[in-house]
Amino acid sequence: MASSSYDLIVIGSGPGGYVCAIRAAQLGMKVACVEKRDTLGGTCLNVGCIPSKAMLSTSEKYHEAEASFESLGIKTGGVNLDLPTMMKYKDSVVEANTKGIEFLFKKNKIDWLKGAGKIVAKGQVDVAGKTYDTKNIVIATGSDVAGLPGIEIDEKKIVSSTGALELKEVPKEMVVIGGGVIGLELGSVWSRLGANVTVVEFVDQILPGMDGEIRKEAGKIFKKQGLNFKLSTKVTSAKAGKSGVNLTLEAAAGGDEEKMKADIVLVAVGRKAYTDSLGLDTVGVETDERGRVKTDAHFKTNVDGIYAIGDVIAGPMLAHKAEDEGVVLAEMLDGQSGHIDYNLIPGVVYTWPEVANVGQTEEQLKEAGIAYKAGKFPFMANGRARAMNMVDGFVKILADAKTDRVLGCHIIGPEAGTLIAEVVLGMEFGTSAEDIARTCHAHPTLEEVVKEAALAVDGREIHM
Ligand code: FAD
Ligand code: NAD
Repeated sequence: MASSSYDLIVIGSGPGGYVCAIRAAQLGMKVACVEKRDTLGGTCLNVGCIPSKAMLSTSEKYHEAEASFESLGIKTGGVNLDLPTMMKYKDSVVEANTKGIEFLFKKNKIDWLKGAGKIVAKGQVDVAGKTYDTKNIVIATGSDVAGLPGIEIDEKKIVSSTGALELKEVPKEMVVIGGGVIGLELGSVWSRLGANVTVVEFVDQILPGMDGEIRKEAGKIFKKQGLNFKLSTKVTSAKAGKSGVNLTLEAAAGGDEEKMKADIVLVAVGRKAYTDSLGLDTVGVETDERGRVKTDAHFKTNVDGIYAIGDVIAGPMLAHKAEDEGVVLAEMLDGQSGHIDYNLIPGVVYTWPEVANVGQTEEQLKEAGIAYKAGKFPFMANGRARAMNMVDGFVKILADAKTDRVLGCHIIGPEAGTLIAEVVLGMEFGTSAEDIARTCHAHPTLEEVVKEAALAVDGREIHM
């Protein structure tokens, strides 16, 4: 027997689920959100975006104080790391954020159904032995770590991102498998705190999928910072023992084996959609070849009244993508229309310097046969970047050769994640490079590098 009924039950309280629940409640729906973790906020708030950014921020400050304060005329009398306090700070940031969602649920009268949710029939969800009736169900169960065959993640010596955010001491030697976003962010954290970090990447460049020039520049800068890279290489085995982890590496194309030893190994080779024990088979919800829930452009699955959003469906595994899908879906359930331009979802890697992108890469434009012009400007030639002692990197703007419409922007440099927002907004409104170039940018700011890159599309940058 059903014990309660809702307009909407959202399963999963990550950025996709909690945002969808809040927007639906704002629109007057009676909403519940099922979450099996002890806290709300999903991967992002508990073991993803938020704790990793706290560690990136504190390790950045530590490293700056240690490595560059003296050259700026600041004498500290020695900088020491207190890792337990740094971890406590990170935990307090997570707690404040997850409690914040609890507050927002109360404010919006959203019921948190505690426990694992299972869809038992169309319009029926079981949670902790009770069945709840609902008009609509949204699957927002997110993603989980993708492992490597034969490599057992024990979260002590061989860790995923979750374990890498909980290390009790700084490892002497750390091997990171995967030169993607997580590998570089968390590899940077532990490198700044004193570990000798080696990133093993299967393909011939880090950050696959990003603009080629950015990938090359990123590799150069991170190498200069002390990260070691083994590109075109795969790890064929990793075994944890008493004294650390023994690894075997091999060239991606095959060849001689190489042995390595590390105190900690971080496996960061991607994430996979999470639908365990959700009851998809019971109601016949289809998944694709990668286990992601199949939806149409309106987030509908093949079963009436069941929708899905976020990491559990196709598309980039990003919190803001999940959030936007949550809002649009709630509004569609309210009878409104909406859409997401997936070409305009920015990506940011929160290393130092940051890497940010939106739209198409040069490689994609070439492949599609689209004639384009590229404008590039280095932070080195910007007064503010020099004043901040942060001169690595550049902004690159790609514009249609005929119409000048901006087709992509790729940044590596200080505050890249903030600078990209101007271009994303511009692209939403169909901006040309000329529009950005003619817009007044305050001086002295890092934003002037974006303006100069826009001028450079037409070969008329001022400060180069
Ligand atoms: P999730 O956040 O994964 O939430 C799903 C929730 O559903 C979980 O809490 C889970 O417990 C719950 N759940 C699953 N099954 C059930 C069930 N049957 N019943 C009840 N509850 C269930 N993205 C960014 O945009 N920026 C970043 O800086 C960033 N940093 C990251 C750093 C790390 C280390 C990691 C791992 C990820 C990072 N991401 C980042 C990715 C981001 O976390 C995800 O894209 C985002 O969390 C996806 O949101 P979601 O709502 O789809 O799912
Ligand atoms: P990723 O897809 O970014 O990178 C995985 C890397 O591992 C790739 O470079 C891939 O070539 C490499 N790889 C795969 N198999 C390998 C093997 N056997 N040996 C060596 N290298 C191998 O995945 P991730 O870094 O694990 O991140 C997972 C997801 O989380 C991403 O989709 C990302 O969008 C999201 N995330 C986002 C942020 C952010 O937005 N700042 C931060 C962290 C995570």
